[in-house]
Amino acid sequence: MAERILDRDIVRPFYLERAHLRGRFVRLEETVHYVLTAHAYPEPVSRLLAELLVLAGSFVGALKFTGTFSLQIRAEGAIRLMVVDVTNDGVMRGYASFDEAAFAGGHGVETERLFEDAVLAITVDQRAAGGRMQQGIVRIDGKRPSEALLVYFRQSEQIPTAVRTAVGRDPLTGRWRAAGILVQAMPGEVSEEPEARRENWHRVMLFLQTVTEEELLGDGLTPDEVLFRLFHEEGVRVFEAVPITPGCSCDRERVRTMLRQFPAAELEAMRQEDGTIGVTCQFCSRHYLFEAGEVDGLVAECSGSAR
Ligand SMILES: [Zn+2]
Repeated sequence: MAERILDRDIVRPFYLERAHLRGRFVRLEETVHYVLTAHAYPEPVSRLLAELLVLAGSFVGALKFTGTFSLQIRAEGAIRLMVVDVTNDGVMRGYASFDEAAFAGGHGVETERLFEDAVLAITVDQRAAGGRMQQGIVRIDGKRPSEALLVYFRQSEQIPTAVRTAVGRDPLTGRWRAAGILVQAMPGEVSEEPEARRENWHRVMLFLQTVTEEELLGDGLTPDEVLFRLFHEEGVRVFEAVPITPGCSCDRERVRTMLRQFPAAELEAMRQEDGTIGVTCQFCSRHYLFEAGEVDGLVAECSGSAR
């Protein structure tokens, strides 16, 4: 059973020997199911968020960090915010907020309007482990999260990168799933002639373009089988897979601490008639109810010390 799940929600790093390129195959099932079923998003929002989950997964195992890695798209179009974060242990969560009116009635939204005035923020937060928080932000012009990520790699990292993603429902169970392959030049690779590098890249891109949505998403093929099918002429080597598990780090104490930081007036405005305060986690939709008095004392203490 554990192996089966490992196969469903994994990041498989790989290396193409002939072309000197590295990559990651991300395939998510339980994680996509967990994130999307915690909400009732319109279908296009679900698809975009699932893609962002896969893209966040493509950083796992490629980036050394202790804490949380997050991908965030902030926009003024039909999509307002999409956030995915993943811990160094591979625990992943995500949510989206959007213009409800734009998606009302089940109509499709013009893709041009999805990410108007959008930025992509990539954050590595290692503060919990005594480290720093680092953030890179790029303005994006893409119509999909994967296009946004390519803009980031082109502008900020200047690493040639290509990505293929697929999002769909399992034909048998109807459950959402998502997957993707990211191929990237090795940073600092200078031993090759530019001409050879271009040739290698071009050849691998031709192979990558042949991958179908069905192959990416599964349908009986493991990620390794897909990689060998695509890149067997390239001498593909795979490395230890990193399992991804769905989960949210929110808990009652953390929410209470967050509430403590609100000014007293704002806290009063949140209070329901019976004095309770309800908070719903945006990531997992878990609901926390605080009785009247449970947070008052703390707030009085806070505002008292501020004066
Ligand atoms: Zn939560």
